[in-house]
Amino acid sequence: MIIDLRSDTVTKPSKTMLEAMMQANVGDDVFREDETVNELERKVANMFGKEQALFFPSGTMANQTALKLHTNPGDQVICDKYAHIYNYESGGASFNSGVSCKLIDGSRGMFDAKQVEDAINPDAYYYSKTSLVEIENTTNKGGGACWNFDELLKIKKICDINKLGFHLDGARLWNALVVKNENTKQYGKIFDTISVCLSKGLGCPVGSVLVGDSEIMSEALRIRKIFGGNMRQAGYLAAAGLYALENNIDRLNEDHIKAQEIGEELSNLKFVRKVEPIETNIVIFELNDGVDENAFVKLLSDKNIYIISMGSHKLRMVTHLDYTDVMHEKLMDTIKHLNLKSF
Ligand SMILES: *Cc1c(COP(=O)(O)O)cnc(C)c1O
Repeated sequence: MIIDLRSDTVTKPSKTMLEAMMQANVGDDVFREDETVNELERKVANMFGKEQALFFPSGTMANQTALKLHTNPGDQVICDKYAHIYNYESGGASFNSGVSCKLIDGSRGMFDAKQVEDAINPDAYYYSKTSLVEIENTTNKGGGACWNFDELLKIKKICDINKLGFHLDGARLWNALVVKNENTKQYGKIFDTISVCLSKGLGCPVGSVLVGDSEIMSEALRIRKIFGGNMRQAGYLAAAGLYALENNIDRLNEDHIKAQEIGEELSNLKFVRKVEPIETNIVIFELNDGVDENAFVKLLSDKNIYIISMGSHKLRMVTHLDYTDVMHEKLMDTIKHLNLKSF
């Protein structure tokens, strides 16, 4: 038995998801004739109370398209120093849109309205033009932390006053909604664009969706094409998305409970210095100085347990749909009996 906790992207489509995929009505999506893609886009747009949605092969492409929709070359985007668009999209913000990022020194990937206000450039010609605020919920590098919705409302106000776009990277928004008992409509109301991922916690093989109203989304199809993201009979993939939205959101709570339990067990270990607060399905922890994290990862992988090192002494485990109760028992037992002497 292999226990793979490197990411919630390692899931494979379930039998019932595969069945739903096989039964999809498909067509050529470049002619916009794929019924299932169209249905998924309508569904996600409606969920958020937005006019349009567009299906993407990756979250990165959905975010990069949003950046392009909101900015002109030379503009500046305000985001946290941990932001996925800044750290993990291969420099795409500058490559694709010619924008720079003004990084906020936030906490666990989150910041407050005052920090946004301070990060906006003055309206003088020698500054780059601030045009967008981007946030992530849950935060990835921030350890799956969830924003306080009241703070988002305050940031929205700053965006309105300063005529800034507001984009949500909601790759793991589903996890936040479940934990905070929030809904898609309230997010649709305050963000101009939102990207959501179907291939993380929701267990699809591929797919993200970008939503927004018609005005901002009018060029989205063209930009997706420029990025090479046009697809043909993508309905087979969209069917997985429709299946996941129906079946795999509420169960995220199980992943969150397991992550909590892992965190508690880890914090009992003498050589674990710190376990970061666990709000959703991501567990980030640090080992004591002098304990080699690569050796620790190797020790676990020798026991068929896969986790990743995030650098700067941090290690990460992510729970997900394919991390079963049996695996959880085995993992908990293994952690309990981990022996520092084996290093
Ligand atoms: C995974 C992730 C993405 C990008 O998703 P891909 O489909 O891997 O391109 C974007 N933002 C956040 C916060 C993520 O965790």
